[in-house]
Amino acid sequence: MSHGSINRVREVLDSSSVLTGAAIDERYYHDLAGKALAKPRAVVRPRTTEQVSDFLRLCHHEKVSVTTQGGMTGLVRGALPNAKEVVLSTERMNAVEEVNTSAGVAIAQAGAPLQRIQERVEQEGHTFPLDLAERGSCTIGGNISTNAGGNRVIRYGMTRDLILGLEVVTADGTVLHGLRKYLKSNTGIDLKQQLFIGSEGILGW
Ligand SMILES: Cc1cc2nc3c(=O)[nH]c(=O)nc-3n(C[C@H](O)[C@H](O)[C@H](O)COP(=O)(O)OP(=O)(O)OC[C@H]3O[C@@H](n4cnc5c(N)ncnc54)[C@H](O)[C@@H]3O)c2cc1C
Repeated sequence: MSHGSINRVREVLDSSSVLTGAAIDERYYHDLAGKALAKPRAVVRPRTTEQVSDFLRLCHHEKVSVTTQGGMTGLVRGALPNAKEVVLSTERMNAVEEVNTSAGVAIAQAGAPLQRIQERVEQEGHTFPLDLAERGSCTIGGNISTNAGGNRVIRYGMTRDLILGLEVVTADGTVLHGLRKYLKSNTGIDLKQQLFIGSEGILGW
């Protein structure tokens, strides 16, 4: 990504959302053993779906590769960038937006840590059954994109079985509105949800 493009990203997002050069901390390019690998060209930390869409549209236009990062606890290095790539971090989109107790549904942003969702749901007397040792660091976006199993998988199923709907931004910036608040939905095929869960971020954000 050229300097001009990075400046355009700074115009689209607020400038604090874009890190370059010495401002890029090693945590954005270290492996699980703590070893620093290739430093990416930039790290972009959007706050809204619209910012993600604007950013990806620009990258698509300029043919810039993007690596998405959640909590970086994945075991297969899928969140590690190479030196030509730009990191898209979910760290500023970390809220649990809604817990609907009557429907038994929670809505969370992609970067919400798993433990935050568990605790918020427990406050309402419910359980979000996905659980794994890295609960405090891993994000729901990372759990979904890896279709994480966790230590209650035999009883409650994979992440795939726990997700009702998704809002997805594809690589060209298109926003797919697939969030659902109710279990009952018999309209059409479920292509969006089943396509993106477990896709390791290669099909959308
Ligand atoms: C100690 C430990 C215990 C674990 N236990 C289990 C376990 O019991 N069961 C199990 O299945 N896994 C387990 N894992 C691996 C598990 O898959 C990850 O910890 C977790 O699901 C990944 O979440 P993350 O936010 O850290 O994702 P990251 O590591 O940041 O990313 C993982 C992949 O998802 C992509 N990605 C991340 N966020 C998004 C997003 N918003 N949109 C699109 N793509 C995205 C990344 O590009 C990357 O390809 C464990 C890992 C550790 C270190």
